[in-house]
Amino acid sequence: MSADNRLEFPIETVPKSGSSYVINEHVRWVRMPLPMSLNHINLWALGSNDNLTLVDTGMHLDDTKTAWTALLTSENLSINDVIVTHMHPDHIGMAGWFVKNHKTSFSMSRTDYLQCRMLSADTGDDVPNDAIDFYTQAGMTLAQIDSYIKRFGFFGSIIHPLPHSYNRLKDGDITTINGMEWQAVEGRGHTMEHLCFFSKELNMFISGDQLLPTISSHVGIFPTEPEANPVEDWIASCHKLISVLPEDVLVLPAHGRPFLGAHKRLNALIQHHEVSLQKLYDALSEPKRSVDVFNVLFKREIDDSNLIMATGESLGHLNCLIKRGLANKHIAEGVCWYEQA
Ligand SMILES: [Zn+2]
Ligand SMILES: [Zn+2]
Repeated sequence: MSADNRLEFPIETVPKSGSSYVINEHVRWVRMPLPMSLNHINLWALGSNDNLTLVDTGMHLDDTKTAWTALLTSENLSINDVIVTHMHPDHIGMAGWFVKNHKTSFSMSRTDYLQCRMLSADTGDDVPNDAIDFYTQAGMTLAQIDSYIKRFGFFGSIIHPLPHSYNRLKDGDITTINGMEWQAVEGRGHTMEHLCFFSKELNMFISGDQLLPTISSHVGIFPTEPEANPVEDWIASCHKLISVLPEDVLVLPAHGRPFLGAHKRLNALIQHHEVSLQKLYDALSEPKRSVDVFNVLFKREIDDSNLIMATGESLGHLNCLIKRGLANKHIAEGVCWYEQA
């Protein structure tokens, strides 16, 4: 079942990396490069060219800085305010650069701001024992843990140092830009306090990573909060968005193309996770470790490059089954085993 068959993508033009496309007098679609298989991010410049509010910024890389500098000059754009949807490097990476070099304001949710400051502060530190225990309990091998240790702190390396102060935005807050009201709508599960922005008047919804047309966002667990239940948070957020958004809203996602069919997509995402939970429950008729259920949850091959994400996502679904009273876990010789309750 391909989501592409069911959603509509009404905007024909897709801006090339480093360039932009004017959707209407209030919204400009900017694309910036990412050095991964997911090779782009969409950013949204709202308002008039001489007074723009930028929603999300791009990853802090030389390529992005060069592209931004060229774009601001060639299109004669002036960015005065920066808002980010959440703390991931592709979204927040350049925020500090804009504040420093363009004297912009900087707004985001409190939880994501604090968590981002905390995670970037880890860069250069030793890996905490809690994290090694966490991945050992999940069933990772010594070689895999070694490879994790080598990459520890990478997060901070692709984010420009964050400003030491920010403006807090929270669920329901209205930001008026160029006479248009944008309402912050909080989502959970991908990060702790992800903000999306809905303009009733324009019938447009800047969704960040909370609602994407073709890929399902990462919903998983990290060593800082091993007992978290982000899958339930994510499913609840999908239901919430169905109640907030009209079906004919134009969704402006961070990855992929603007689309129509918000409710269809949200229902498909809910379904996707519920089906995964059911399959996972069935697989737990025999005790399994987190690393034993990858084939139940993922179609793609899991290797060193996506092992941490996959482990986090499988733990997320296992925790959800535990919280629903459907599974138990026990620790034997430092490794967690899960089975049906
Ligand atoms: Zn994200
Ligand atoms: Zn993203």
